[in-house]
Amino acid sequence: MKNFQLPSQILSFINTSENEILSLLKELAVIPAPSKNENKRAEFCLEKFKDFGYKNAYVDSVMNVVCPINCENAEDIVVFCAHTDIVFPDTTPLPLFDDGKHLHCPGIGDDTACLVLLMLTAKYIAKCKLTPSRGILIVANSGEEGLGNLVGIKQIMRDYKNVSKVFTFDGQYNAVVNRCVGSHRYEISIKTEGGHSFSNFGKLNSLSVMSELIYSLYKCNVPKKENCKTTYNVGTAEGGTSVNTIAQSATFTYEYRSDDTECLLIMKNSFESALQNIKTTYPEAEIEVKLIGDRPCGSENVDSEVLKKMTEDVIFVSEKYSGIPCSATSGSTDCNIPMSMEIPAVCVGSFIGSGAHTREEKVLKSSLIIGLKITAHVILSNF
Ligand SMILES: [Zn+2]
Repeated sequence: MKNFQLPSQILSFINTSENEILSLLKELAVIPAPSKNENKRAEFCLEKFKDFGYKNAYVDSVMNVVCPINCENAEDIVVFCAHTDIVFPDTTPLPLFDDGKHLHCPGIGDDTACLVLLMLTAKYIAKCKLTPSRGILIVANSGEEGLGNLVGIKQIMRDYKNVSKVFTFDGQYNAVVNRCVGSHRYEISIKTEGGHSFSNFGKLNSLSVMSELIYSLYKCNVPKKENCKTTYNVGTAEGGTSVNTIAQSATFTYEYRSDDTECLLIMKNSFESALQNIKTTYPEAEIEVKLIGDRPCGSENVDSEVLKKMTEDVIFVSEKYSGIPCSATSGSTDCNIPMSMEIPAVCVGSFIGSGAHTREEKVLKSSLIIGLKITAHVILSNF
């Protein structure tokens, strides 16, 4: 990757692409795409890939837009993807605002900008009629955010067996994610008989059981292991009927995360024992646990030499075009799935902006051409 030079034809397309990037980004960014409901963006992307000349592009059962190049009978496939879903539940067009220097829109950076740059790279590849020596899979994938639970990348890894490497494009170009943060997410519901707050005083209250369980979860000491980070959080809690009712039901969501499989397992055990304690203390309470998210970490089993080289390469490429330092970090991305299957994967950033996962998100317009060069270089040096 380090000795590779972008072909001059591609470079000249990129150097004159600013208006094209901005107009495609403005079109795509306003299309709503909450996780599990990405169909409108998927349709838009499919039509674009077909326009670019990829007649075999298709949308799969989980709303991935898949654009295979030379993948038939390929013994080695490299996957390049960026996700279509955003964290905002909106189902009507999202508000977009151009202040001259920045484009503002919820989800504009994460991951719409990266997706647009991936799509335009695909367009220029088709325009220049470049043919890879291996299989190349370009994917606008679904389900990366929160409760999407990585459904898109899971499907890709099921459908394509000969994948040797995965590059995902997500985030800013000052960071490369090469270590996976795994997580388990739960919804815990508690039901009790309840009753009238005065006449049935003394009956078990769901909210008090929930509070006791949350309190015990927050007494947990996260495992300490060198270079590893482990966290936990109760994100939402609700329940009860009225101020004069002994609450009959309560529900809360809880997650723990770690970039280390062993630490994730320790957290699982401590969650299960807290649960067991509360069940033993209150056998009359009905406690139900639903697993609503399961992201493996598992970067430990990947060939560390290959991963190290991929990381160094993409850091080199990012710094070459951006002129700013880029560092390796851990995160929860689509890479979690290939990495858990021992397939090396890194997540490459391709813009500069701020406010990811807030409605105030924005991207710096002048960063996008740099991002397009990074994206094209990472892809074409793997051709
Ligand atoms: Zn993202």
